[in-house]
Amino acid sequence: MTLPVVALVGRPNVGKSTIFNRIISQRLSIVEDTPGVTRDRIYAHGEWLGKEFSLIDTGGITLNDQNLNQEITSQAEIAIDEADVVVMVTDARVGVTNEDEVVAKILFRSHKPVILAVNKADNLQQRQDIYDFYALGLGEPYAVSGVHGTGMGDLLDALINQLPLAGNEPADDTIKFSFIGRPNVGKSSLVNAILGEKRVIVSAAEGTTRDAIDTKFINRADQTAYTMIDTAGIRKRGKVYENTEKYSVMRAMRSIDRSDVVVMVLDGAQGIREQDKRVAGLAHEAGRGVIIAVNKWDAVAHKNQKTMQEFRDYIRDEFRYLNYAPIVFVSALHHQRLDQIMELVQQVTVNQNRRIQSSLLNELLLKATAVAPAPIVKNKRLRLYYLTQVATAPPTFVAFVNDPDLFHFSYERFLINQLRTTFEFTGTPIKIIARKRK
Ligand code: GDP
Ligand code: GDP
Repeated sequence: MTLPVVALVGRPNVGKSTIFNRIISQRLSIVEDTPGVTRDRIYAHGEWLGKEFSLIDTGGITLNDQNLNQEITSQAEIAIDEADVVVMVTDARVGVTNEDEVVAKILFRSHKPVILAVNKADNLQQRQDIYDFYALGLGEPYAVSGVHGTGMGDLLDALINQLPLAGNEPADDTIKFSFIGRPNVGKSSLVNAILGEKRVIVSAAEGTTRDAIDTKFINRADQTAYTMIDTAGIRKRGKVYENTEKYSVMRAMRSIDRSDVVVMVLDGAQGIREQDKRVAGLAHEAGRGVIIAVNKWDAVAHKNQKTMQEFRDYIRDEFRYLNYAPIVFVSALHHQRLDQIMELVQQVTVNQNRRIQSSLLNELLLKATAVAPAPIVKNKRLRLYYLTQVATAPPTFVAFVNDPDLFHFSYERFLINQLRTTFEFTGTPIKIIARKRK
């Protein structure tokens, strides 16, 4: 399912990130409590009256060595490229500025739906005093206070009214996958190499509302239909913001959101960088299938029989939480082992959707508790009564226990390992939820 995208734009300091946090905060506390990624986040899910959307704070994508006008121009371009609806944020205390006019002009020309927020309207006087903002030519201004929350309801009402209707995308049972990774690891080279080789392109349709192009194709080797997500974003070149870390993280999150399986690409010649770890963390947290492709293997000097195994160990060491992800060594340049990527995408999809009968799970539970008795915490022993699968993609299990507080991370990990050794779950994360047996 593809969520519609909303982007916040506006000059620095008008209150974009305050409004961003206010919109996403409700969800954050419930579902997304992931340290590391939450700091200076610029991409998250929001919801209002049951309508869900992705939200981007373009103000978080800052550029070095650019003047203010260039910077906000780039941010407005990103918003137009990525979003279905743009929220332009201005400052009631400062009034309309030249930079506001620059942004408004760009947005106006794009013909995207734009909602104009006049922030920092903290009191009645300020809320009534926003008529100057009509001059921006973006329609009715909405007075809000990001700090106090006033006016946010009306703003969000207007916003969801502009979202494209859900469900008008044709149903599609192709396997959706994407390449993610930091700039220059070879994502677009892989896209082009794979599409250029023994695949029948069914459609490379322009996305209906945004600039994304997904490529649908039949893979001759397995006669299966795939959709390669977001190849336009990968192919787009020459934008000043393209190589900034925030922008590429945002792009990775967009791709992950829309994929069943993500192929995390590393540069074999350069090794693992800090930014690779952030991208990998995002893929893991999203619960998607993950494959690790070490690209540019041709460019690794002095290889011998041990080099691959050493690189594998290195990856396992650096990305411990991704221990389930299969690793493949490829070269986009020499078209080496590209078929393996496609085979893995297929297998991982099967594994993500695997369902295990409760009877088999309880056999496993009996054996597991015989091997490693459930732990005693504060003089109380954890009791596991029953294990059952409640969802797929990712496979999710409920463990009925005497007291969920006794179900610690280490025992959860032990059970997940038992599931992995007994059943075929390569490439997919596994979740276990402990519930008190009534
Ligand atoms: P951004 O650069 O557009 O993301 O702006 P920030 O969200 O970082 O806000 C800039 C400053 O304005 C911060 O000091 C905020 O606390 C303040 N601010 C944001 N929203 C409001 C508001 O509604 N009222 C007032 N008085 N201050 C606000
Ligand atoms: P992206 O930014 O991740 O999409 O990376 P590109 O596909 O644009 O590749 C970045 C650079 O790496 C380009 O100069 C490519 O020619 C080069 N490159 C990509 N794949 C390979 C490979 O398998 N081997 C070698 N030696 N170079 C590659």
